[in-house]
Amino acid sequence: MNDLANPPKPERQRKPDWIRVKAPTSKGYGETRQLMRDLNLNTVCEEAACPNIGECWTKKHATVMILGDVCTRACAFCNVKTGMPRAVDPLEPEHVATAAAKMGLEHIVITSSTGTTCRTAGQGSSSR
Ligand code: SF4
Repeated sequence: MNDLANPPKPERQRKPDWIRVKAPTSKGYGETRQLMRDLNLNTVCEEAACPNIGECWTKKHATVMILGDVCTRACAFCNVKTGMPRAVDPLEPEHVATAAAKMGLEHIVITSSTGTTCRTAGQGSSSR
């Protein structure tokens, strides 16, 4: 029989361990970060403030964001900064290839902001 004056309290469940990410402090993370700085590359990992960055960069996984780190749109859910795009780095394709080689990748994930807006400017860069 239920005691309506003293209903049972729901059991409080612990959050799963994976819900909290650790601060990125590993050697692999630092090496990936330095490589991106040395090659003047942007990544959506950083620009979008991805919470997986510590884990991915430790394993030398990164998503390169070509054609700059500025987006012409201002989507409320996105962390990429909004504004007018700056000039495209003509050496970016070579830098992306160098990064892939140094990270020992067999394939690399490349993205860019506002692909439709930048399509003309980026065709040469992304096809190289
Ligand atoms: S590779 Fe993808 S999941 Fe991993 S940190 Fe970058 S954006 Fe996030």
